[in-house]
Amino acid sequence: MQFTDFSLDTRLLKTLDHMGIEKPTEIQEQAIPVGLSGKDLMASSKTGSGKTLAFLLPAMQRIISTRPLSKRDPRVLILLPTRELANQVYSQLRLLVANTQYKAVKILGGENFNDQAKSLERDPHFVVATPGRLADHLAQHHLHLNGLELLILDEADRMLDLGFVDQLKAINAAADHKRRQTLMFSATLDHNKINEIAAELLKDPMHVSIGAGN
Ligand code: ADP
Ligand code: MG
Repeated sequence: MQFTDFSLDTRLLKTLDHMGIEKPTEIQEQAIPVGLSGKDLMASSKTGSGKTLAFLLPAMQRIISTRPLSKRDPRVLILLPTRELANQVYSQLRLLVANTQYKAVKILGGENFNDQAKSLERDPHFVVATPGRLADHLAQHHLHLNGLELLILDEADRMLDLGFVDQLKAINAAADHKRRQTLMFSATLDHNKINEIAAELLKDPMHVSIGAGN
């Protein structure tokens, strides 16, 4: 299978080429078509298997090929458990949005709150965030999620381990409308709380699980 087998914008294919990425990994083969279909997804595969592009490519494609629900609200919100993981995803997203008109910001715990509020005033299309800090900005009305089209939870198992369940529920509630798609990724599924949060956040999800033990 090739990336050209998915209906992806030529700019995305070109960026993959520049990144030196040639063929989709197993999780990408299975998750990208679901992401592109608009269906909700619960996916798991081990660390290092390429989950980031499995959600960033469908997210980019959706933004490029559909009209926004809102001019001001972020269209895509990607949540990660730690600053380090969020920085890694943000740097891959930056490569994909380069040479497009789309703006991406990161909203991470431990960084200047007011600077982040200002960056949200620029109406970014993509927000990459840790749940605690994002929930704080939401409570302060620094952003609204009524127009959110795609909610992505990466490393959902670790977000639950770190005690972010209330923040995830608050963010979900703020973005609760029919046209939202939700993609949930984790390294493992053997987590009691995963099914519970998945039941609350995902609508009739497709399941993709790669590798032994799942
Ligand atoms: P995970 O989130 O599953 O731990 P990442 O998305 O962080 O994995 O990807 C791990 C590494 O593999 C990254 O350096 C990424 O650039 C690289 N990678 C991702 N997809 C591919 C691919 N299709 N071919 C080659 N390398 C890839
Ligand atoms: Mg990852």
